[in-house]
Amino acid sequence: MLQEQEAHAAQMEQTFIAIKPDGVQRGLISEIVSRFERKGFKLVAIKVVVPSKEFAQKHYHDLKERPFFNGLCDFLSSGPVIAMVWEGEGVIKYGRKLIGATDPQKSEPGTIRGDLAVVVGRNIIHGSDGPETAKDEINLWFKPEDLHQFRYLIKSGMS
Ligand code: UDP
Ligand code: MG
Repeated sequence: MLQEQEAHAAQMEQTFIAIKPDGVQRGLISEIVSRFERKGFKLVAIKVVVPSKEFAQKHYHDLKERPFFNGLCDFLSSGPVIAMVWEGEGVIKYGRKLIGATDPQKSEPGTIRGDLAVVVGRNIIHGSDGPETAKDEINLWFKPEDLHQFRYLIKSGMS
């Protein structure tokens, strides 16, 4: 059983998704969670966290040379964030599709940022941009035992 679970965990793709403080303050938690859930992805970890500024700087370390870095880290650490791990085939790339382009002015209607956000500095959601960042971000925000392995008992086409 344990071996089966480990094999399952090794092969299942996972991504890190966070609802940023603006998404939480605007009451968009359920709207955002439901878009991933209805698509058929599986929520395997979720928590409310107020990151410190140092933690925000770690999360966004790739962007430390950018002029908006300081304001971005101040903002991420300004209030509760919903940190999540979503699992499923193709979830990293498709998660980015559900989210939409970084600048909400360029996000297509039908995407989370396209439908729900207006400016790049308040684009309500974060999603890992590739397999390496997904792994790093999941490890930064969660402990391995926070990630649950389970099967849905009531079948609706999802495993
Ligand atoms: N950002 C910003 N100004 C910019 C570009 C990005 O404030 O000109 C913020 C924005 O909130 C974005 C975050 O920095 O979501 C991280 O930037 P990245 O390029 O990684 O975009 P993402 O992966 O979030 O689409
Ligand atoms: Mg990014």
